[in-house]
Amino acid sequence: MTVDPGALAHRTAQLIDRLARVTRELQFCGGLNPAQWEALRFVARANRYSSTPGALSEFLGTTKGTVSQTLIALEAKGYVLRIRGTEDRRQVGLTLTDAGRTLLEQDPISDIENAAAKMPPDQGEVLLRSLTRLLHDVQARHGVKEFGVCAECTLFCVNEPEVKAAGGGVCGMTGDNLSEEESGKICINQQRAG
Ligand code: SF4
Repeated sequence: MTVDPGALAHRTAQLIDRLARVTRELQFCGGLNPAQWEALRFVARANRYSSTPGALSEFLGTTKGTVSQTLIALEAKGYVLRIRGTEDRRQVGLTLTDAGRTLLEQDPISDIENAAAKMPPDQGEVLLRSLTRLLHDVQARHGVKEFGVCAECTLFCVNEPEVKAAGGGVCGMTGDNLSEEESGKICINQQRAG
């Protein structure tokens, strides 16, 4: 049977829209709204250069004012802390509190994760690659920045034996050593190959 590419693309867009709607509805729980859950997830995943209100606003594609309201709400609930820089007081870093980390263990999107885990691994891989490509394409056309994983950055180096042995790497932009945990985090400066 010949597949009509136009019909396939149309159906794909409709399915993604449906899935996005369901995913959004799932995130009105635990006393948070979807934006607050997304911010909580971001703070957990962002590396040292990216865990800031400005980077969060770029990640969400929203204004700094909207992000500020989200952070005020999360801070009032005791899930996030805003920390002023010791050298430059204008710099603000974000970190999760223990309560924030505990709440994230009940992340409502784990429901989607559980559904995805039921797929055969080869189909899951194809889906992951296809969705990633689709996301990057749409983001590029709308000027939304993607925050990639540090270990997949073209600036990530593992030349120093002691760093490599510890499972981490070195940031080619800053020269800082990165632990194994940090190399799995997302970064505002990530450079993607190709
Ligand atoms: S290596 Fe790339 S992704 Fe990692 S910290 Fe440096 S700029 Fe960011």
